[in-house]
Amino acid sequence: MTRPLLMIPGPIEISPAVHAAYQPLPPSHVSPGVIEAFGASLERMREVWRVDTSYQPFIASGSGTVAMDMAISNVVDSDDRVLIVNTGYFSDRIAEMANRRGATIEHVRCEAGYVPASDAVSAAAKAFRPTVVIATHVDTSTGARVDVPSIISVAREHDALTVFDGVCATAGEAFEMKAWGADVYLTASQKAIGLPPGLALLVASERAMKRRERIENLPPMILDFAQWLPIMHAYEARKPSYFATPATNMVLALEAGLKELTDVGMSEVVARHQRVADAMRAAWKQLGLTLLGPWENAANTLSAIRYPAGVDATVVSTIGANGAIVAGGLHPKHKAEYFRVGHMGYTTTQSEWLVQTVNAVESAMNHHGHRCGGGVEALISALAK
Ligand SMILES: *Cc1c(COP(=O)(O)O)cnc(C)c1O
Repeated sequence: MTRPLLMIPGPIEISPAVHAAYQPLPPSHVSPGVIEAFGASLERMREVWRVDTSYQPFIASGSGTVAMDMAISNVVDSDDRVLIVNTGYFSDRIAEMANRRGATIEHVRCEAGYVPASDAVSAAAKAFRPTVVIATHVDTSTGARVDVPSIISVAREHDALTVFDGVCATAGEAFEMKAWGADVYLTASQKAIGLPPGLALLVASERAMKRRERIENLPPMILDFAQWLPIMHAYEARKPSYFATPATNMVLALEAGLKELTDVGMSEVVARHQRVADAMRAAWKQLGLTLLGPWENAANTLSAIRYPAGVDATVVSTIGANGAIVAGGLHPKHKAEYFRVGHMGYTTTQSEWLVQTVNAVESAMNHHGHRCGGGVEALISALAK
């Protein structure tokens, strides 16, 4: 490694296979290699999202925020009543998108780092009668993970559509889109799915596709399911087509990245993220560190760690200088209280990188006056379990 490890909650380190697939000179969007990679990626997305061919995957250019706006503009209209299970920064963002569609919005909120209790979600839904329920699977601003099946079961009672922002979760957290009955699950390439930034990825249920047919306030063309559907069909049939130029190198990388996941199998990929998260947490505990929220709803994909007494945000750059780039806080009210370490994607296969990260945190903490030790030993013994 010639630079410090990138251990923020996205973008992240990528695998050699993804890097190699991404590298060629930019191919045409109708070259045979791109058509094959695009079609195969659509098929593989169904495996990663755990759905059958009745669900429609979309591959779009852009970041996670594009995927969020694509989801919202195709299934939320001005007559909708949208319940936001709000866990922080990205829940606020998707709520504003629904607000801009003219929908009526209601939030179920909680303290930073926590998730709203299912009783609270259920009571809010009874009072509000939502037509759409939206949650952030893992809120990257706090490291909190919601309980998806319980949110879907509340939504079902009101016959509401469900939209999940999986940007910091897809391929790192269990998500059984079909078995659980979610309607839209979206992500971005640069987080747990393990690619460079640049693609917005989304899968829609039949119900979500039907909802688009009844949307009166049409989505922007570039985000419109109806514009993209024939293109997705063409690529899946391995035929050339054009509506707007895809990020061709990224499509090549996507195919390689999804293949790495499906070759291992999604249950093993998620179990690996869980093992690594448990081991990283064993290290944080050994170092006398605590999370922003409770350990119980902490995500597999990142840790939001409180600065211990006497240590402030300047420790973040010391950790970087020690060999692992981590991120500061993001929650508007609490950002000065914690920092974030991503542990997702290819990094979870490289235990020496996890060791390097824990070492960097441990020595930076000591340098800033928080005496601690034994983090690497705690990590290694937990990984061996
Ligand atoms: C990173 C992130 C986003 C935003 O993605 P961008 O690619 O930065 O636009 C949205 N939601 C969640 C949960 C995220 O982690």
